Amino acid sequence: MKQLRVTGVDPSFYRDIELIASLFFSKVNVSENQETADLWLHFSVEEGHPIRVSVTLSDPGRDQAWHGSHVREAEAGETGKAYRKRVKQAISHALLQVLEEATGIRQPWGILTGVRPTKLLHMMLQKGYTMDEAAAILRKDYLLEPEKIAILQEIVHRQTTVLPDLYELDREVSLYVGIPFCPTKCAYCTFPAYAIQGRNGSVEEFLSGLHEEVEAVGDWLKRNQLPVTTIYFGGGTPTSITANQMDELFRKMKASIPGFEEVRELTVEAGRPDTLNEEKLDLLKRWKVDRISINPQSFEENTLKLIGRHHTVKETLEKYQLAREMGLHNINMDLIIGLPGEGVEEFRQNLAVMQELRPESLTVHTLSFKRGSIMTRNKEKYKVAEWREVAEMVRLAREWTREQGYVPYYLYRQKNILGNQENVGYAFPGEESLYNIIIMEERQTIIGLGCGAVSKIIPPGTGKIQRWPNPKEPQAYIDTYLRHIHEKLAALDEAYGVGTSAGV
Ligand code: SF4
Repeated sequence: MKQLRVTGVDPSFYRDIELIASLFFSKVNVSENQETADLWLHFSVEEGHPIRVSVTLSDPGRDQAWHGSHVREAEAGETGKAYRKRVKQAISHALLQVLEEATGIRQPWGILTGVRPTKLLHMMLQKGYTMDEAAAILRKDYLLEPEKIAILQEIVHRQTTVLPDLYELDREVSLYVGIPFCPTKCAYCTFPAYAIQGRNGSVEEFLSGLHEEVEAVGDWLKRNQLPVTTIYFGGGTPTSITANQMDELFRKMKASIPGFEEVRELTVEAGRPDTLNEEKLDLLKRWKVDRISINPQSFEENTLKLIGRHHTVKETLEKYQLAREMGLHNINMDLIIGLPGEGVEEFRQNLAVMQELRPESLTVHTLSFKRGSIMTRNKEKYKVAEWREVAEMVRLAREWTREQGYVPYYLYRQKNILGNQENVGYAFPGEESLYNIIIMEERQTIIGLGCGAVSKIIPPGTGKIQRWPNPKEPQAYIDTYLRHIHEKLAALDEAYGVGTSAGV
């Protein structure tokens, strides 16, 4: 834990200072009174038009100091939230400079700490900035590295190409169905995923609740004549349930969701190869699923054991081959950069295997130490690459995908992600997942059904987002799903200004 003693700035900015500092140190505590602080930060903030910030970072132990400053333009007369945001950005900007200088660590995303940098670029374009003007702001004000700006530009361009109506999609909705079971729990995972063995009773009970939720949401969609853009089955691993249970769920969806067979995209995550067999793949094919995921994460056997995947590399390759033979077309594969014990060499080998397989889409994640995961709780057991090597693997992924004909089409970032990098979805042109774009850019309501599903309600024309989480845990879902359905539909009624769903 790094103790930072901060002076010369209003305490309401401590949280922002902590966010920037935690890009450099794994744990940070900020306060103005720390006799034993590791580092001292003294700010001088002139809140005018422009805003002038300077900062001195000193290390009492080493008798060393670093200085940074930033001048942020502010529109004449600007006050309130917008002005405060500029002050915050000026403080973050000056702070990032001194921390980069003091530690020698470069932050590829500059002062941006949010999950969705592409959303910021979309917003700038919608406000009327040209792509070049937006790029200049991202460089100058947010300190993004040029290659991060380039990938954002490419992605935004790609998204508006494959979804030309992206900015008007709030007249439709998408559906997410969460199935919270997996064969075993992976060490880095914080998704609602529960080992399925020995749970037959609760799987059946959960599915019967889910059927009711599908029916209720279907009725609401019919009443309000809202078209469905995409449907996504995630979790967990949806293919953990039996072929029969999947078939019944699809039948229920067909009977309840208007236009089920005409949606623009139907995806089923089949991430764990150990859940797949001929019967299930045949079912996915018969139900005309557009896109599935079979996720190797790594093609290193030892890594898979270490992260608790409980399937072998051979199994991934065989199931992929089987899916191909059975005619499934758009297959996504995930790789994770920075898994324990893996560096550039291992990543190159992973890409070499991908070159043989050539899935239509490839999502390249960077490992993140998520709060509550087995890996984070036992961090000392897992040796991971340092930031320079992680940056090199991210660069390699970009170069390799370009050479192979993939285009990047969505990107998101996570807290505690190695090297402060990102996750990027690549696909062959025309094979991009529309759902991934929609969820990342938050352009329409996504109604979540099932366990761990979070509905994001965006009343058309507002861009405002209300979150309605379903319970994460299967037993909690079984116990409370009726109340959750009722509350969610009432929230949808209110957001869409329509009649009551009471009595559902
Ligand atoms: S397969 Fe996916 S959802 Fe299931 S435990 Fe592993 S990471 Fe989590």
